[in-house]
Amino acid sequence: MNKQHIINRFVKYVTIDTESDPNNPKFPSTEKQWDLARVLEKELNDIGMEDVELDDNCYLMATLPSNIDYEVPTVGFVAHIDTSPDFTGANVKPQVHENYNGEDIVLNKEQNIVLSPSYFEDLLQYKGQTIITTDGTTLLGADDKAGVTEIVSAMEYLIQHPEIKHGKIRICFTPDEEVGKGAHKFDVEKFGAQWAYTMDGSQIGELEYENFNAAGAVVTINGKIVHPGYAKGKMVNSMTIASKFINALPANEVPEKTSGYEGFFHLHTMEGKVEQTVLKYIIRDHDMTLFNKRKELMLETAEKINKQLGKDAISVEIKDQYFNMKEKVEPVMYIVDIAEEVMKDMGITPLIKPIRGGTDGSQLSYMGLPCPNIFAGGHNFHGRYEYVPVESIIKATEVIVGIAQKVTEKFK
Ligand SMILES: [Zn+2]
Repeated sequence: MNKQHIINRFVKYVTIDTESDPNNPKFPSTEKQWDLARVLEKELNDIGMEDVELDDNCYLMATLPSNIDYEVPTVGFVAHIDTSPDFTGANVKPQVHENYNGEDIVLNKEQNIVLSPSYFEDLLQYKGQTIITTDGTTLLGADDKAGVTEIVSAMEYLIQHPEIKHGKIRICFTPDEEVGKGAHKFDVEKFGAQWAYTMDGSQIGELEYENFNAAGAVVTINGKIVHPGYAKGKMVNSMTIASKFINALPANEVPEKTSGYEGFFHLHTMEGKVEQTVLKYIIRDHDMTLFNKRKELMLETAEKINKQLGKDAISVEIKDQYFNMKEKVEPVMYIVDIAEEVMKDMGITPLIKPIRGGTDGSQLSYMGLPCPNIFAGGHNFHGRYEYVPVESIIKATEVIVGIAQKVTEKFK
């Protein structure tokens, strides 16, 4: 793999602004995502991919035909082209730091923004490597343009090295992952892969096939407004009732106090006046039974308080958002084993852990395309401290090549 070539490719992608917009119902949510999609469309044609097709919804698919004379399953690789609306992705000025010395990296002198291993200790495992950072004023977009870089580079490498045997490979770049819609208009049938991997994890070695079951809850509390001077026995303050509801949920089952397989209730928005307060929660749990119990607890809590108050002040509306892909991946566990074996062959320690979130892969898995997630290499996503070691991008590219090759051996 040519390191400079990969750096150039990555820099080209991250300097194209593709921030998605959670408040725009259009699809894709921002026009600018087309900019990168069109660049990629041309590039895939240039490197010699076949069936390159950018559809009306900004999904870009392409094929690398098999170069063996027997049938093996078609495997897919998926990455997203948009960047998070949490932090600006306009005018990204990537900084390339060669031979990282393990000390603070000054991202921005004027604004005194420093990427320090004393705070971000993961940095130290990349001593001696080439690290790409921001200039402190934007996010980097390694999430997930590192993944895009890896897939394009792996396809190019396989095309240039016909001696490496592989079956049919399908690739897809999706819009709007960061606003939770990356899988929404994904044409699984047209993609035609038996399974796929999203290249969208963080540090080197990550391999994920378990994610949260997720729901959103809107809790509406109705009160009664009366002039405070004449309110005795009449006013009902919805905010007071809201605080009762909030405090009735388990105090330790919140994002800031949980990790690993521990689920939570997360109150992320609260808007209140005397007359009405609206609480917005997300509910998360890896375990389906516990997930359902959490939803029940919310309903029961509302019911209990309503009973105490003697009126239906609180109503709760719960909507499922996505489910744990484990259920869809475990029956075909060999797809995880293949990725794990490839990493081990390469001397990478696989870090298999549950995702505390969802991925496009979880939705795709439920749409009939089992889809674990593999590291793309970046750290500190969605903010100014985002960085990626080039060596991790190269390793992820090699993992894709390795999987393509491994499938030809496993299914011979
Ligand atoms: Zn991502």
